[in-house]
Amino acid sequence: MKMETNNCKICNRTFKTQQGLHIHIKLKHKIGVEQYFNKYLKENYKRICPVCGKQFYDFKASPFSPKKCCSVKCIIIDFYGKEKAKPFLPFIETLINQ
Ligand SMILES: [Zn+2]
Ligand SMILES: [Zn+2]
Repeated sequence: MKMETNNCKICNRTFKTQQGLHIHIKLKHKIGVEQYFNKYLKENYKRICPVCGKQFYDFKASPFSPKKCCSVKCIIIDFYGKEKAKPFLPFIETLINQ
C-alpha cells in the first residue's frame, strides 16, 4: 500500500515531506492543517468499535495499526470481557467525565 499523505488533496501536488505539504495548504489554500485533515483525510481514519459498534475516528494511530475501540471504557471491556470489566466501569466513567 502506498502512503499518500504528502499529496495535496485539493490541487494534487506532491511534496517530499509532510511539513512541506502543511506549509503549502496553509499558504496556498489558506486553511489550517486540522481543517484540511477533517475535510479530506478523516475517512481514512474511520473505525468501528467492536464493543459498542460506534463509529469513531482514530487520528493518532497510523492506518496500519489502528486503535481498536472508541473509548477507554470499550478498550477495557474488550480486554477483560463485559462481566469482568463491570466493577471497573463506574470508576472509569468518573475519570472520563472529569
Ligand atoms: Zn494544494
Ligand atoms: Zn466503543
